Order: sequence, then C-alpha cells, then structure tokens
Amino acid sequence: MNEVFPWREAPKADFAVIGYPIHHSLSPKMHAAAFEAAGLSASYVATEVPPGEVGSALDHLRSLGYRGVNVTVPHKEDAFRWCESTTDVSTRLRVCNTIDLERRHGTSTDGQGFAASLADIELDGKQAVVLGAGGSTRSILEALLKDGWHVSLWNRTKSKAEALILDFGFDVTLLDEPNLLGANLIVNTTSASLSGERLPLDWDEVLTPADALAYDLAYGAGLTTFLKDAQSWGIQTMDGRKMLMEQGAAAFEFWWGLPAPREAMLAALQ
Ligand code: NDP
Repeated sequence: MNEVFPWREAPKADFAVIGYPIHHSLSPKMHAAAFEAAGLSASYVATEVPPGEVGSALDHLRSLGYRGVNVTVPHKEDAFRWCESTTDVSTRLRVCNTIDLERRHGTSTDGQGFAASLADIELDGKQAVVLGAGGSTRSILEALLKDGWHVSLWNRTKSKAEALILDFGFDVTLLDEPNLLGANLIVNTTSASLSGERLPLDWDEVLTPADALAYDLAYGAGLTTFLKDAQSWGIQTMDGRKMLMEQGAAAFEFWWGLPAPREAMLAALQ
C-alpha cells in the first residue's frame, strides 16, 4: 500500500499519480524503480483526488513545481479537459493518463502499453472479443483495430457499448451475449475482476484453447476469476502487469525523452 496524500496536502515532489481510490496503485513503486535504474534524482507520490476536483488538484500540483502526473480511474477524461494541448491519440480518444504539467500537455499511453504487451505473442488468428465498455476500452479497441484485429464487443449494459462504437466510430461487431466462438483473443476490460465477480462466459466456445489468449487488464495478487476459468479450459493467460509497465514506460519516455528501463519497472511489479 502506498502512502497516500490528499491533494491539498501533497508534499514537495516531482511526479504523482492521481486517482480515486489510489491506495493500490503500483505506479509509485514502478516509477521509483525506473528513476533509480536510470540514475535520475526525482520523487513520485500517490495523491488522492476526489471526483470533481481534478482541475484544482492539477493546478495545485503544478504550482508546487510538480513536473508530471499519471492519471488513473476515474479521472482520465477530466485530465484531458484540463490540458491545453494533447497528442493525436489523446485528442482522438478524449482521455489523458500522462501529463507534462508545465506545458499543460497530455497524452494517453494505455493503447500503446496494451499493444506493446502483446508484441511477442503469436496466436493462430486475429479474432478478438473485448468485454466491457468503460474508460479503458476505447484505448484497447483502437490498439486492436490498428493492429488488424477483427473485434467483437460485449458489455453488460449494451447501450454503453453502442454509444462507445458510435462516439468513436469503431469498426467492431456489437454482441448481445459474450459469444467467444472462434475467438483467438479475449480481453477483459471490465472491472468485474476487482470484485471477484464471474462474467457469463462459455469458455467451451473457444475452439482451439491452446492457441487462444485470455487477457485481463486487471492485475494484483494471484489470478483473477476470469483468468482462473480460462486456465482451467487450457487457454493461455496474461494479466495487466505488462500493460501497466509498458504504459508507464511510455509515460517515462514522454517526460524524460530517454529510453525507459523496462526490466527494472517490470521487476518492481512482481
Ligand atoms: P470503468 O469503471 O470505466 O468500466 C468498468 C466496466 O466494467 C464497465 O463496462 C462495466 O459495465 C463493467 N463491469 C463492472 N462490473 C461488472 C460485472 N460484474 N459484470 C460485467 N461487467 C462489469 O473501468 P476501467 O475501464 O477504467 O478499468 C477496467 C479494468 O481495467 C480495471 O480492472 C482496471 O484496473 C484495469 N486497467 C488496467 C490498466 C493496466 O495498465 N493494466 C489500465 C487501465 C485499466 P457496465 O457498463 O454494465 O457498468
């Protein structure tokens, strides 16, 4: 667990992650390891920012001399609105998870992190099923479509998935049920794993389990229910740690203009 500072009591430091809640974020540990491995003298803290206070909190951290922040649930859209300029991907998706405070310049590294985490994985086909339609889903859909995947999307509340497709013009198939027939990749972007809830999936619809990958964006101690179920059907699994490391590495490079020490960052998450 991190030492967490309410944003009004933030200490003098260089970088912060803001979110609500923020106790369980692994970003302070990961970035501290990165700074040390790169020989950089900088500090990184966890700052709690309740909903509705993002703009004031970012102004405050900027006035204290913070150089940059990472932004996590549920603030990525508010952070986007605070920025004066954003990178192309951030502008397209209307979210920011990384900000250069001095320049009020933001980006979104989640999609890049997700794509990089899959770079070494070889699967038999390019059929993906994405579960969920929350804040992270837009980055995942964009990354998969850019990489040539055929994507089907299911969300518990269908209207939200529908709105996501319309809002961003994603070329994906909207599912009424979470149908896994023929899927090579199943990406869980729901937060069901955080509460240990089981999604209504028929894993036996995955025809070639050994050539399929179940990917849960969630990370933490032990396997999530989603990944445990997939494993019991002989399906390969991956949790969100590598994506977390890769999105953090992209944030590090955005701030410093130096190659990120990825091994040290991943080691800090084990
Ligand atoms: P949001 O709160 O924005 O979205 C939550 C989604 O989960 C909604 O689509 C919601 O459906 C769905 N959901 C919640 N509970 C259930 C349930 N019991 N059954 C079915 N669907 C459910 O979350 P985010 O997109 O921000 O984050 C999702 C997950 O991704 C979290 O676990 C988060 O930690 C992880 N994450 C990991 C990252 C990484 O780097 N590894 C980066 C970003 C996120 P509905 O619309 O019906 O409410």
